[in-house]
Amino acid sequence: MDYDVIVIGGGYAGLSAGALLAHAGYGILLLEKSKSLGGRAGYMEKDGYTVEYGLHANRLASDGAAAAVFRRLDRELEFIAPGEPELWRGEGFEPLPNSLGKILKSSILPLRAKLSAARYLGKLVMGNPAKKYQLSLEDMTAECKSPETLEVLRVISGIGIIAPDPRYASAGELGAFLKKALRSKVKVGYPEGGTRSIIDGLREEIEENGQIMTGAKVTRLMLKKGLVNQVKTDTATYSAAAVISAVPAQGIAELFGGKDLPIKFVKKVRELIPTAGISMDIGLKEPISDRSGLLVTSDPLTMGQFTSNIDPGMAPEGKQLLSWYYPLPLPWVKNSEKMEREEQRLRDLLEEMFPDIWKVLDWERTLRMNMVDGFEPRPGQTREDRPGFTIPSIDNFFLCGDTTRAEGTGGDTAFNSAIHVSRLVDDYLEEIAEEEEEGD
Ligand SMILES: Cc1cc2nc3c(=O)[nH]c(=O)nc-3n(C[C@H](O)[C@H](O)[C@H](O)COP(=O)(O)OP(=O)(O)OC[C@H]3O[C@@H](n4cnc5c(N)ncnc54)[C@H](O)[C@@H]3O)c2cc1C
Repeated sequence: MDYDVIVIGGGYAGLSAGALLAHAGYGILLLEKSKSLGGRAGYMEKDGYTVEYGLHANRLASDGAAAAVFRRLDRELEFIAPGEPELWRGEGFEPLPNSLGKILKSSILPLRAKLSAARYLGKLVMGNPAKKYQLSLEDMTAECKSPETLEVLRVISGIGIIAPDPRYASAGELGAFLKKALRSKVKVGYPEGGTRSIIDGLREEIEENGQIMTGAKVTRLMLKKGLVNQVKTDTATYSAAAVISAVPAQGIAELFGGKDLPIKFVKKVRELIPTAGISMDIGLKEPISDRSGLLVTSDPLTMGQFTSNIDPGMAPEGKQLLSWYYPLPLPWVKNSEKMEREEQRLRDLLEEMFPDIWKVLDWERTLRMNMVDGFEPRPGQTREDRPGFTIPSIDNFFLCGDTTRAEGTGGDTAFNSAIHVSRLVDDYLEEIAEEEEEGD
């Protein structure tokens, strides 16, 4: 065998799984099709700005999933606490009522709405969230008569788990997130230096005991006697005792040339619906705001941050970097007429909040995104519904990434899946080593 483990994909999940296994002493080869690492959390340098792939932050900061990976690697990941989140109310920003305490104190909610929002938050976090996985937020709040309560819940679901449409938000997935958030002192953190510090830390760890190849697209996995025995790229063939796919599960069947995988599994992963939408990164020649928390609009639900107000290193001195995300259903993203309209809507909204924004524009990058988080946390796509970490018919093949059934959504699922898969691979490799010893 050329390596102990081959990891396909150099996003958060593949880098984390590779780093954890390299740290455990295994020889790793990571193959990434792009020229750079990071996948959907990648970044680039542009005229002195560090531009991430859209708005990025880490839920629960040092209590969250990225920090858990780094702790296992005996590495530090420093987080900057952003300012308090704020909600745009048409004439100005107000504190966002996104926790029990803030709901009760909020000046924008009437007393009846405060009490009913508090009651629904209680309902969401009480008991076992798995019991509410298949219940939509809309069904759970069917009896609610307060439009303000419904708005607050929709906003919390939109920013917390990127499920702004109550018809498609799983009450159980939202409850599971809120339960964790309730226990954590810090709700969100921005990694010092941005996603680059996460990617670089993981890359360094892999390179201590392995190799990373970029520009290396895996084109085909070959099976022999129930094991992946060859990993092919356009230019070479590699082998390893274990193979981890850290590419979005929707594309796994392609790696096997449409063969060899159970039909039920292929159907399930192909149908997995990701979150989608518009991402706008904006460089500004002059600062236009000193706000440093998450900024949210509720109609339509959009969110953004002045990243360089949180970490000044992300923009050149005297300039400013703003990143904004407008979640939209995947079919909309494929409809160019709809998208032109929604992009204009977002631009108008930004101008309403920051009247000078387009006058001091340095550059703008607008992306129509087919995949933001690997799955939309809706009934039918909850933890119990998503693909697991193994395929029973292929012993040495493992799945990780933000489309698996690991806890959380988005980056959290990616990091958590890597922790889980690295343990499974470690157990598997120990088992085959023992069998080989017994055989000698
Ligand atoms: C605009 C935006 C904002 C986001 N904001 C947040 C946020 O604030 N917080 C959060 O937690 N999450 C956020 N997310 C989600 C988060 O970025 C993703 O959940 C996470 O990056 C997914 O990591 P992954 O490794 O599972 O997948 P990916 O990042 O998709 O990595 C898969 C990698 O595999 C590579 N690959 C694919 N096919 C092949 C092949 N055949 N051979 C070799 N390589 C291959 C790809 O190039 C890619 O690098 C955001 C995402 C976007 C797009």
